[in-house]
Amino acid sequence: MKDPFAVTRATFDEVMVPTYQPAGMVPVRGEGSRLWDQQGREYIDFAGGIAVDLLGHCHPQLITALEQQAHALWHVSNVLTNEPALRLARKLIAATFADRVFFCNSGGEANEAAFKLVRRYGVDTDPAKYQIIAFDNGFHGRTLFTVSVGGSPKYSGGFGPIPGGITHLPFNDVAALESTISDKTCAVVVELLQGEGGVLPASREFVESARRLCDKHHALLVFDEVQTGMGRTGRLYAYQHYGVTPDVMTSAKGLGGGFPIAAMLCTEQVAQVLTPGSHGSTYGGNPLACAVAEAVIDIVNDAALLDGVTQRSRRLCDAVNDIGRRQGLFEPVRGLGLLLGVPMSEAWKGRAREVVAAGLRHGVWCLVAGPDVLRLAPSLIIPEADLDEGVRRLDAACAELVEQNKTAIA
Ligand code: PLP
Repeated sequence: MKDPFAVTRATFDEVMVPTYQPAGMVPVRGEGSRLWDQQGREYIDFAGGIAVDLLGHCHPQLITALEQQAHALWHVSNVLTNEPALRLARKLIAATFADRVFFCNSGGEANEAAFKLVRRYGVDTDPAKYQIIAFDNGFHGRTLFTVSVGGSPKYSGGFGPIPGGITHLPFNDVAALESTISDKTCAVVVELLQGEGGVLPASREFVESARRLCDKHHALLVFDEVQTGMGRTGRLYAYQHYGVTPDVMTSAKGLGGGFPIAAMLCTEQVAQVLTPGSHGSTYGGNPLACAVAEAVIDIVNDAALLDGVTQRSRRLCDAVNDIGRRQGLFEPVRGLGLLLGVPMSEAWKGRAREVVAAGLRHGVWCLVAGPDVLRLAPSLIIPEADLDEGVRRLDAACAELVEQNKTAIA
């Protein structure tokens, strides 16, 4: 008899709210940088669950951390604190500029906490000091506040009135920031590498100017490191490349290596505006999540591992640039560490999704960052052999597309 609960990709269209359009294959197992689907086909993972699976799939040390915690304590709420949360907070503080940590469950929630904090900080000094300055094409999450601070109207539109007091400026435009910021600004919110916006790095001059202008106007500088944090760029946090310290920073995605957890980190002085009851989260600081994240930071905050990110980045950039030159699909690769954007060439503009689909046919999973940029965010410890095999499959996928294109034109 047919199992009435057997599921395939087609089930998605019957049972899920249609917020996503997942690809055709359904993965059932992962190990390191490889995935297997329901049919047993194997894929090299260059997507890392959108820059989340820092240590690949089912890393033995993360499994041990999760299993040990699963036998000890799962959940107690924030009416009580717990040891994994306190240890993780200590480790994050020791490794960054921060003095205080607030735990939650996703990047959007971490930014929601950050934006509420900066607003409280501003209006405590002057009721009119509530302007948040953010940047075009920035992405900060999907809550109503975070889509509003995000710089893409396509995400914030269609939900009725959105929170006000938010100004968007062109990214990397120092003059625009200088002429807009004032004593009524409570915060400037920056992604050091715009991830969803096309893997675009902030310039050093822009980041340094943002710090200087925030200081001048007593505004807080917020770095959204949801996508760039936890070693993704070859430093524990991307701000460490710039030598510019924020007042508030958010971290998620890689923090739990695939287990949902996020954090908002800030300085002592700033933290004091969020008094008991002013913000919270039932699951924030959950012992299971914190135990896994503690294992992640123990592994990732290591000079040899971070050097390995830079080496892998070079190898991957060189190989993809080579594909781009030979096949004519790509412009030179940009990004930092293992968060790489591969812009489509003029002739292939708007067709990044086709590369992802062809990649899946050839057994490699990549991402897009908008219609014009292919995005690669593999595990930070992807073995050289898997990296090379993934590149070989991507090359074959590109060759297929070029061939199909010739036939279509002929
Ligand atoms: N901020 C940045 C920079 C992101 O890239 C993302 C997700 O892509 C978010 C925030 C939102 O994170 P989440 O989807 O975990 O809410």
